[in-house]
Amino acid sequence: MDIQRTLSIIKPDATAKNITGAINADIEAHGLRIIAQKRIILAKNQAERFYGVHSDKPFFQSLVNYMSSGPVVVQVLEGENAVGNYRDIMGATDPAKAELNTIRQKFGSSIENNAVHGSDSTENANREISFFFASTEITG
Ligand code: ADP
Ligand code: MG
Repeated sequence: MDIQRTLSIIKPDATAKNITGAINADIEAHGLRIIAQKRIILAKNQAERFYGVHSDKPFFQSLVNYMSSGPVVVQVLEGENAVGNYRDIMGATDPAKAELNTIRQKFGSSIENNAVHGSDSTENANREISFFFASTEITG
């Protein structure tokens, strides 16, 4: 067993559609446990820092504007192989290319407005979790 934690974000397009519960149901149906969760609005400079790795990409400014355009739900997911498992449950970045029944295929609207974020490695998961949560806010 490799029990891991990963950071998930339900993005502004999904909170606008009022589908936080539907996404959480998918997360839980796949065996992941939501062990911390809060609904917040990201300041632009927070979104810039969070996505700093993409600062040289042509879509960076649009991504930052989108991520700070409305509420997001940040959450810590825990479970067997949580990082890779959640990436599988999410589906490909572009909803049009995502596997059937993945969160992005079902709920995403475009390559940018793709409903959810999930950490891409255990190292980034640790960094991203501590970006949003104090250890006292996480109950395993
Ligand atoms: P992922 O979220 O699947 O790990 P990336 O890390 O490559 O994907 O990109 C981060 C986020 O930036 C994506 O989830 C999406 O919201 C946005 N994005 C990625 N590629 C594009 C693109 N070509 N055009 C617009 N937005 C993009
Ligand atoms: Mg990524």
